[in-house]
Amino acid sequence: MNMSDPGCIFCKIVSRDITTEFVAETSNTLAFRDIAPLADVHLLVIPKQHHRDVLELAKNAPSILGELMNTAANLANTYTNGSFKLQFNTGAEAGQTVFHAHAHVLADNVKDAS
Ligand code: AMP
Ligand code: ZN
Repeated sequence: MNMSDPGCIFCKIVSRDITTEFVAETSNTLAFRDIAPLADVHLLVIPKQHHRDVLELAKNAPSILGELMNTAANLANTYTNGSFKLQFNTGAEAGQTVFHAHAHVLADNVKDAS
């Protein structure tokens, strides 16, 4: 199995060939702000390994999917008031445009840090 795809934009973020605004990192996951936010909070959580979508990730690396969910939960606690959407667009017909598994963390509220 290919752990990295040289043509994949999210693999380039993992390798730091493309810079972006990181918000979290664990052993096997990375999170950053979506470049075109659709909500007040719009974060993406990805596995560092290349898997084309969440179905492949669940099949090939379920423990990493668990780690990704944990990262998403920590971000939701940090960045939102606890109301948020966790979305995996899967397949072009469902709006997936980047074929490297990722979860969107979306919320129209921002946690008051004060
Ligand atoms: P999807 O449509 O579910 O495949 O989501 C892909 C997301 O990646 C979109 O919301 C894009 O705005 C976002 N995106 C694409 N390139 C970048 C980038 N370089 N940095 C941050 N987000 C990106
Ligand atoms: Zn990739």
